[in-house]
Amino acid sequence: MTNDNKRVVYADYSAGKPVDSRVIEVMLPYFKTSFGNASSLHRFGQDAKRALDIGRENVAKLINAEKPETIIFTSGATESNNLAIKGTAIRNRKKGTKILTSAIEHMSVVNSCKSLMRQGFQTTFLPVDSFGLLDLKELDEKLDDQTKLVSIVYANGEIGTIQPIKEISEIVHKNEAYLHVDATAACGQIPIDVQKEGIDLMTISCNDLYGPKGVGALYLKDSLRIDALIHGGGQERGLRSGTENIPCIVGFGKAAEIVKSEIKSEGKRMIRIRDALIQGLTDPIPYAFLNGHPTKRLPDNVSVRYSFIEGESILLSLDMMGVFASSGSACTAKTLQPSHVLLAMGLKHEEAHGSLMITLGRQTTQKDADYIKELIPGIIERLRRMSPLTPKELIK
Ligand code: PMP
Repeated sequence: MTNDNKRVVYADYSAGKPVDSRVIEVMLPYFKTSFGNASSLHRFGQDAKRALDIGRENVAKLINAEKPETIIFTSGATESNNLAIKGTAIRNRKKGTKILTSAIEHMSVVNSCKSLMRQGFQTTFLPVDSFGLLDLKELDEKLDDQTKLVSIVYANGEIGTIQPIKEISEIVHKNEAYLHVDATAACGQIPIDVQKEGIDLMTISCNDLYGPKGVGALYLKDSLRIDALIHGGGQERGLRSGTENIPCIVGFGKAAEIVKSEIKSEGKRMIRIRDALIQGLTDPIPYAFLNGHPTKRLPDNVSVRYSFIEGESILLSLDMMGVFASSGSACTAKTLQPSHVLLAMGLKHEEAHGSLMITLGRQTTQKDADYIKELIPGIIERLRRMSPLTPKELIK
């Protein structure tokens, strides 16, 4: 197969997003002319400090945080997850050493919990159902007076399933524990209100808002105290020392402002494309299934699986036709292990291997989705013809 028409369709937005040109524009002066250090008392320093404050305010507004100071800037979602989990657990060690999380968390959550387990903490990974929804009864049952931290992903980027965060926070607070939410994949796609939803700590990634990589934030409820992981000059309320990355924080603020004004219309547009694409990639093909929940689902996420073939061979065929997608989380793409998320939903190893993950973004058009819909049935048929696992009656 060759890509004669040279069409290029990027369909891996959850792995990386382009930076919005409106964001780049506001960042540029902070590299060259307004390059001061926000801690300096002179004019250059004060310019940087003002820019930092505006960035913080805009990020706080996006999630309806009670005040800008609740936003701690970090280097990204991985660092925010580490800070939230280790910082809360270590601060509350004397009150309890048990942590609850789910079986479908990102590795930055899983490995933060594992590192705490080596220091004497206990972690329970709560099960999910076949849609990827957390078992709330099990959460309630497992919470005891030794559990001070619960960490749950708002929406898993691989399967798109959105968790009922408000219900989860009510259960967590009834048991006097804190709730950390990893909103890396969700924030920017669906409106989030940390106060209404009862979130104590929340991870946000800037690139997921079409801002630059290498910057993120942790929302930390005003009344809450946690331990720092990085010590130094005391920036970011002593929770994340180091000279602030002003250009990226300015970009983060702008990206948050744009998302806030466009989230509703963009969400609707993407859901239309998503649902038609899911239908086109499953209805006409036998043994094709949707991964994750049909409606409690991120607007950008199309995750499907095909029996008898491997996701990687679908990706290579799509790549030759100019379509760039994924078979799961980019963070574990190199391991070729079946995804722990799909296994936690009850899929067998061979079922998990046949997954194709398409994530949509601001530049995705209906025509792009139509092109993918046109290609997939032929690709699946060809790969199944070559697979020794395909039942004979499926081969035409
Ligand atoms: N949490 C979730 C839910 C993710 O999908 C990711 C990856 N995008 C991360 C955390 C880590 O993000 P990063 O690699 O940008 O730190």
